[in-house]
Amino acid sequence: MTAAGPLAAGSNRELFERAQRVMPGGVNSPVRSFRSVGGTPYFVARASGPFVWDVEGRRYIDYVQSYGPGILGHAHPDVVAAVRDAAGRGTSYGAPTENEVRMAEEMCARVDGLEMVRLVSSGTEAVMSAVRLARGVTGRPTVVKFAGCYHGHSDALLVAGGSGVAQQGLAGSEGVTAGAVADTVVTPYNVVPELDETVAVVCVEPVAANMGLVAPVAGFLEGLRAACDRAGALLLFDEVITGFRLGWGGATGWFGVRPDVWCFGKVIGGGLPMGAFGASAEVMGAVAPLGGVYQAGTLSGNPLATAAGLAVLARLDPEAYVRLEALVRRLQAGLTEAFAAAGVTAVVPRVGPLLGLFFAAAEPVDFDEAKAAADNGVYPRFFHGMLERGVALAPGAYEAIFVSLAHTEEIIDETVEAAAGAARDLATS
Ligand SMILES: *Cc1c(COP(=O)(O)O)cnc(C)c1O
Repeated sequence: MTAAGPLAAGSNRELFERAQRVMPGGVNSPVRSFRSVGGTPYFVARASGPFVWDVEGRRYIDYVQSYGPGILGHAHPDVVAAVRDAAGRGTSYGAPTENEVRMAEEMCARVDGLEMVRLVSSGTEAVMSAVRLARGVTGRPTVVKFAGCYHGHSDALLVAGGSGVAQQGLAGSEGVTAGAVADTVVTPYNVVPELDETVAVVCVEPVAANMGLVAPVAGFLEGLRAACDRAGALLLFDEVITGFRLGWGGATGWFGVRPDVWCFGKVIGGGLPMGAFGASAEVMGAVAPLGGVYQAGTLSGNPLATAAGLAVLARLDPEAYVRLEALVRRLQAGLTEAFAAAGVTAVVPRVGPLLGLFFAAAEPVDFDEAKAAADNGVYPRFFHGMLERGVALAPGAYEAIFVSLAHTEEIIDETVEAAAGAARDLATS
């Protein structure tokens, strides 16, 4: 790896000052502002594999990885080549392309029960559209969601969202009317709720990864499936993080529980804006132009995004997941050991290649427990201890740790060494 590229315009501090004058909080997505950890965000100049470099030339081992899309690491040569090639042939047409067909075929081939998809431009858009579809198909109004699960920033789904919503200390958001959430019911994660016949859809992150990492307890997802079947409601797996990261067949393949509706994002766009929702051919038959549920997008199925997504999926064979999980196990073991050696109370929950971190004695099972563990003031200190040592974790305690296939064993060991130092600092300060 070489040092920083061409000299960038200014320091992190200068850029942050300029940014704050022209963008709220200096950022285009709240968590990036470092509000919950304090300090000045690093402004990225470039990235490669497991690393990002800031505008001051500092290198960080990156566990943010754009909060999920970077499963191959940054600027993977296949993805860069695919995007370059696609860009030269035009960036958007407003007409169908072969790569959209290939993308949909790839997704349906991997996920058991998924027969048709509609490509959109973000995870938010995917879930928002999927909820409309569920309401259209069932003719019912109510959406059930679980506290601490994040499903994007559409009005009806922000209530008790995890991720940045949790970091801002907001229950939901100002500017959302009572009417917009009147049909949303929020209930605790890992408890199967009673459903009545007004329920159109139960939305769940099959592994909750936006309140830190909270695994589903045994029987939870199966219980949701049964409850939805009894009530005639649809079960929606929001696989925007788990999809094509947890394993070849996403959470559906991992847990062997089949929802009625899926949402995807992050990994499938390879770092370009793309999301998708899908279901059986029967359910997707309700989507326009086949049916009466309207959904559209100028940039949907964008040629750069499908080119990148296909390049990513081509690399994600079953063996890739074995490698990714082995790397994550190594990191989990190393972090656990580092905290124990320093006498720091912490848990490092893992589901396959998904990893979390809480400064608590036990793994949280719901949002209340996750909040207590995330808001005890330890995470910001650990975060800065790691950043000083050249390791970038997410600037907020509610995010997962994203390891990529570009993180080698050596990089993991370097991370663990940094963690040992940061943990010692926690114990002594
Ligand atoms: C990130 C995320 C979303 C929203 O996706 P965007 O592309 O940020 O709009 C929705 N659901 C889950 C589970 C997510 O992690």
